[in-house]
Amino acid sequence: MGLVLAAAEAAYPAECCGLLVGEFDPIAGLAHVTRVVPSRNLLAGEASDRFEIDPAVRFRVMREPGFLIGHYHSHPDGPAQPSARDRAMVYEPELVWLIIAVAKGRALQASAFRGEGLEAILLEYGQNGGVGDGITGQIGRHGEGWLIEP
Ligand SMILES: [Zn+2]
Repeated sequence: MGLVLAAAEAAYPAECCGLLVGEFDPIAGLAHVTRVVPSRNLLAGEASDRFEIDPAVRFRVMREPGFLIGHYHSHPDGPAQPSARDRAMVYEPELVWLIIAVAKGRALQASAFRGEGLEAILLEYGQNGGVGDGITGQIGRHGEGWLIEP
């Protein structure tokens, strides 16, 4: 989780983005993120409210071990909630969206969403996740959860 937050702060005031790789535990209904793969933001030059992950990064990840769980991006000076633009960009509803709110260069909150309507899902942190440093998780109505490891 620290990698994602650091990337979000480093990219500020632009949006960062990347992929979340790991494994699913179908019995617990949990996805465990074990690897974070940053991507350059192909739309970084256009506006601060949009992102596009480099397809070359995605292809590389899909050839490597691990399951593509989802992706992350930051909202510079915006909430940790999907924007209208995000909602219009849900082409793969099975993927988890992790959105990081960054205010004045500091990552303030991270929330996770999934499904056609980008419903909030439970977000837990690993042992070095920094729950105490202003990061909160949200519980989704489906009770789905996922764990992002440091
Ligand atoms: Zn967004």
